[in-house]
Amino acid sequence: MKKNVASITVARGDGIGPEIMDATLRVLDAADARLDIEEIEVGAAVYARGNSGGIEPSAMDSLRRTGVFLKAPITTPQGGGMKSLNVTIRKTLGLYANVRPCPAYAPFVATRHPGMDVVIIRENEEDLYAGIEHRQSDDVYQCLKLITRPGCERIARYAFEYARAYGRKKVTAFTKDNIMKMTDGLFRKVATEVAAEYPEIEFEHWIVDIGTAKLADDPGQFDVILLPNLYGDIISDVAAEIAGSVGLAGSANIGAHCAMFEAIHGSAPLIAGKGIANPSGLLLAAVQMLVHVGQGDVATTVHNAWLRTIEDGVHTEDVYAAETSQRKVGTADFASAVIERLGQVPRVLKPVRYSTATTISVKTRPHARQKKVQVGVDVFLDEPDTTPDRLGRELESLASPDFRLDMLSNRGQKVYPGGAPETLCVDAFRCRFVGLGESVTTAQVLALFARLDAAGHPLIKSEGLFTFDGEPGYTKGQGQ
Ligand code: NAD
Repeated sequence: MKKNVASITVARGDGIGPEIMDATLRVLDAADARLDIEEIEVGAAVYARGNSGGIEPSAMDSLRRTGVFLKAPITTPQGGGMKSLNVTIRKTLGLYANVRPCPAYAPFVATRHPGMDVVIIRENEEDLYAGIEHRQSDDVYQCLKLITRPGCERIARYAFEYARAYGRKKVTAFTKDNIMKMTDGLFRKVATEVAAEYPEIEFEHWIVDIGTAKLADDPGQFDVILLPNLYGDIISDVAAEIAGSVGLAGSANIGAHCAMFEAIHGSAPLIAGKGIANPSGLLLAAVQMLVHVGQGDVATTVHNAWLRTIEDGVHTEDVYAAETSQRKVGTADFASAVIERLGQVPRVLKPVRYSTATTISVKTRPHARQKKVQVGVDVFLDEPDTTPDRLGRELESLASPDFRLDMLSNRGQKVYPGGAPETLCVDAFRCRFVGLGESVTTAQVLALFARLDAAGHPLIKSEGLFTFDGEPGYTKGQGQ
């Protein structure tokens, strides 16, 4: 009877999924991984049965029961109405951290950056991916960028705990806080606060554009990179690509109660069934999974055997190159080559050593609530047949008795008072009304809405202007 058995859920997926999962499970079994496996079906067959999320509720129950999901890639159906399985799982199970190690395997796998050994830690739930989009008017569409304090704190703590657990020396955050001062500003601020609790780990911040350029040019200067969702989505692919190892990379999606491990590539339908797919991405994801379930000993054995296989030049077609490879093998033979090397360590590449207690747990701290006071309101109006000056003059008179019109902006650019004639104006205006007293009441705001409506100004939406402990909780807008 095996000790410390971990229950996991496995899905073989679509395309090359079943082949690479077979290879991966064979290696795990040969390495004596202590696993109790429940199998579920996800992907094309489930979508075909009319399930728009690609996963049945009973399969979701298995994920909740085991809390660990090893998933092969699936084929995402084209066409409306179907939702991405990954997004469904990530959101339903609260998998907030995406962890993608991107090391180079030079000289055995071609790369321009032989010294690269970067880990990307991406926030997985918030940002523009919250999926809150609206059409406001004939001209204007919007997508809401949502960044929360607990969300930032959780991912920042995860990054620093990861760095500590894996002996990493530096965490670098990328944001665009010079432009998105509130949302990206919060991400940077919280990361900086959390960093202060980890004095042994260096922390730095780069603006995302120059940071990405630096990463692409000289990745050796980065260690762990901490990113909000959208930048993380893009930059994790850049990092995997420049490491030379897109087909070799695995990733982990970590939540407080569940975690999902998968290769970063898709189901490669064109090579499905040919027995030539590289199982390395899924196998390395399984290594992350073994560490997560406290089987760092098995993870060490499997990872070192895999490194030795790569080093010995036993390569699948996708990484095979006459100069660096010795033997071209298919999926099953590659797995057999790894199994033959269990117990061996690489001679040139750095061997890995995982502790059995690398499980990372993250707790956010309670945050003192701040005093919130409403001082005004931004009202978005649908005004196709006007000019900024005409609208401004009309709204000046509708603002009283409780407000004054502070400004109008169009596409974020101030257009009244004192707008520039060159500014392109579309049909949706943001109209900022500031209260005349210390604070404004909901009744005053509703009375303003009623005056605007009665005067024929169609309301799209409004956003309250609040101060928090006296600090404005809104930007002053472009052009001011
Ligand atoms: P892909 O990653 O499947 O394939 C891109 C290229 O890489 C192809 O040339 C493919 O043959 C090759 N490739 C990928 N994995 C390989 C491997 N293990 N060994 C050897 N070669 C490999 O990307 P795609 O073609 O854009 O997508 C195919 C399908 O996969 C789509 O339906 C897509 O939606 C889906 N997909 C799923 C996931 C997931 O389940 N997490 C991720 C990405 C794409």
